[in-house]
Amino acid sequence: MIRSRILLFAMLAALACGGNGTSSPVTPPVITPTVASIVVSAAVTSINIGNTLPLTATPRDAQGRAMSATLIWTSNTPSVASVSSLGLVSAVAVGGATITASAGAVVGTYAISVTGPTSFVAGQSYFGRNSYIEYVAGNAPVILTAPHGGALAPSTIVDRTAAACGGAATTVTDGNTAELARAMQQRFFARFGTYPHVVISHLSRRKLDPNRVQPEAACGNAEAAVALDEWHAFIETAKSAVLKTTGKGWYMDMHGHGHSVQRLELGYLLTDAQLNLSDTTLDASTAYESAASMRTVSLFSPLTFSALLRGASSLGTLYANNGFPAIPSTSDPKPNGADYFDGGDNTRRHTCGGSATAFGGVTGGNICGVQIETNFTGVRDNAANRDRFSDVTAIVLEEYLRVHWGIRLAAP
Ligand SMILES: [Zn+2]
Repeated sequence: MIRSRILLFAMLAALACGGNGTSSPVTPPVITPTVASIVVSAAVTSINIGNTLPLTATPRDAQGRAMSATLIWTSNTPSVASVSSLGLVSAVAVGGATITASAGAVVGTYAISVTGPTSFVAGQSYFGRNSYIEYVAGNAPVILTAPHGGALAPSTIVDRTAAACGGAATTVTDGNTAELARAMQQRFFARFGTYPHVVISHLSRRKLDPNRVQPEAACGNAEAAVALDEWHAFIETAKSAVLKTTGKGWYMDMHGHGHSVQRLELGYLLTDAQLNLSDTTLDASTAYESAASMRTVSLFSPLTFSALLRGASSLGTLYANNGFPAIPSTSDPKPNGADYFDGGDNTRRHTCGGSATAFGGVTGGNICGVQIETNFTGVRDNAANRDRFSDVTAIVLEEYLRVHWGIRLAAP
């Protein structure tokens, strides 16, 4: 009786460990499947500029069984088609690109072709999915964006919160800044007969913050992430067009602040503390010039960096001389403790400053620019003031870009 019980136990133990013939308790070997192949697929192989396409990657083990794996997505030509960390392709410019999903040394590839329109019609609007992002094509070497003026709040996109997406998750709307960018485009055309490029987010900042990087920007929502990709793709389209026609250009990311001091805050990616330094210190090394969002202009211009930043012919002083007080400028060179915005992620990525490459742009490239945080009253509060500010912007840019960078906005 005892003997048969022992035998039964031995049989059960043998069954329990997979019938490998031993009756002693063993630890099953932990088999980590390794990726042997990756197949990348999608619905189509060709997409239009400004559109996006989700790719699916299926890693398989040596036995051909589908398995999960951490994948790295890359594009061999991001200027034509970029790809997000989740495999979402954004079509940037006409051409071809190969997208690769890799797990260690194993890769899967997918060839994408990006189709026209090869040339956008200046002054005409083009929209991303659900019309969340609008691109008004241009033919002047100036690009204007308005990321925080949108009002669309679709229920399919949950509200951004700091708890869900990290960072501050600021949701405040910059009132009337989409209208301001539109007015700037129209008054620019009235003066020069050419259109600046304009990109506007119509999504409420509660749903998307295009001036932040992920995950704070779209907060894990796929629909908002598509809009974010389209936002940057349209700006890249504008930059490509400017570089093709003029070789260099100027970018301004337009915002509205609620600070008590009523002035334009020009953000060149120099912090409050850096702006509080003396001109001598700012010019003593190339560190500040290299970081600044108008770095390439400063290298081109014979002026010292501090003179271009806040001297007599700086952008801020030109605005101030035309009735719009601005910091930094000759009369208002330093924040000295007052509230001041020094530039955001759009400025980091889409200008020529020191952080551009890390944000997907080109440090030392030929698109430079600035973030402008506008005060409300007298600038963006009503149509007449938006037009007045826009007329002055055209006058100011005509001089600034001609004198400092050899760009002619007006006919010679
Ligand atoms: Zn803003």
